[in-house]
Amino acid sequence: MPHPCRVLLVDDNTDAYQTVKDLLRSQREYHFELDWLMDGQSFLQQLPTFSQRYDVCLMDYNLGDYNGLELLQRAQAQESPIPFIMLTGHTDPTIDDEALSLGAADFLNKANLRASLLVRSIRYAIKQQQDKLQLLALYHQVQELEQLKSDMIRIAAHDLRNPLMVILNYAHFMGQEPHAPLTPNQQDYLATIIQNVQRMQAIINEILSLERVQMGNRDNFQAVDLSELVQMIYSELDPTEQPVRLSLSASEEPLWVLGDLSFLREAIDNLILNAIKYTPADKRVEIKVMPHNNHAEAHFTVCDEGYGIPLEQQAKLFQPFYRVKSKETRSIQGTGLGLYLVKTIIKRHGGEIIFESEYGKGSTFGFRLPLLSESKAHPAV
Ligand code: ATP
Ligand code: MG
Repeated sequence: MPHPCRVLLVDDNTDAYQTVKDLLRSQREYHFELDWLMDGQSFLQQLPTFSQRYDVCLMDYNLGDYNGLELLQRAQAQESPIPFIMLTGHTDPTIDDEALSLGAADFLNKANLRASLLVRSIRYAIKQQQDKLQLLALYHQVQELEQLKSDMIRIAAHDLRNPLMVILNYAHFMGQEPHAPLTPNQQDYLATIIQNVQRMQAIINEILSLERVQMGNRDNFQAVDLSELVQMIYSELDPTEQPVRLSLSASEEPLWVLGDLSFLREAIDNLILNAIKYTPADKRVEIKVMPHNNHAEAHFTVCDEGYGIPLEQQAKLFQPFYRVKSKETRSIQGTGLGLYLVKTIIKRHGGEIIFESEYGKGSTFGFRLPLLSESKAHPAV
């Protein structure tokens, strides 16, 4: 406890001031300095300088011009760093609850105020406030570090893109050099370089996409026909050229959802490419985009006859950088960011992930999004 401990009493009653003064003085262990304000108006005028002048404020509930809770609220709105203890003659528990929920440290009844009770309440209030301020400072520090971390990731990812592009281009030139053809070994080395640079590019693109999704707001959301978007992505995939047997059932009527076209495309791409990647050749991958729940929702699903995911690994699947460890998928390359990206995008769109998998049999991944009503999909001009 500070020494001396500077106490402000806000009370319109002279007797109350005298009582508090006597009680504090009767305590030999601590030294208190007491100031007194009689009305809410002077309290509000002096509020900005309280933190330099006082360690704690004792606030009467019933002031003539103001109600103590109102003043407490005004002080909290100005982020007053000193703790408040409410004093009242009322025994109404709702006032007690309200005072505490507005941030009061304690609520004391004037009728049974004793010196030991008052001093203990002051000590606890000051200690609690110190802890709260420390916690707040730590929270701001963590926030700053978090910001620094994401800035560094973003800058690193941006800055790595150009040098990687240069490496890739020169690696391609080297492979095409007509005057000094490469030996088979050198060709292998070059292929490995190119493959790994492309992997790094994929990682960087995923990190930057995540960054864009997390920073993005809903301002540029527009009505998107999910069925048309899926059909377009499907045709661009060249389904007959894929190792798996791909099929699509898409709603013939438009499925209007509110969203960001490029983010939704990214989510759909990721789920389809995963199904192709984690399904052995000649097995089936079925893509569906249909209305559900009486046209309240659109469901997009990719159901595969692939390797499936062991039950004990399913809980972590949507965490960043998580990759399933199974003998079938161990050698397949990836970063483990795709599903996290999909989840982040879908959450941003107010939707939910659909997921089901059985190890050795296959998986269904997808999402549901709220469908727009006709009027919102085609706003009247
Ligand atoms: P990338 O970041 O390049 O997408 P990734 O494919 O490994 O890498 P995610 O898409 O996040 O990462 O998938 C996480 C893990 O979930 C994968 O490593 C894979 O083991 C498993 N997984 C994802 N989709 C399927 C699927 N359709 N069938 C079986 N396993 C899957
Ligand atoms: Mg993936």
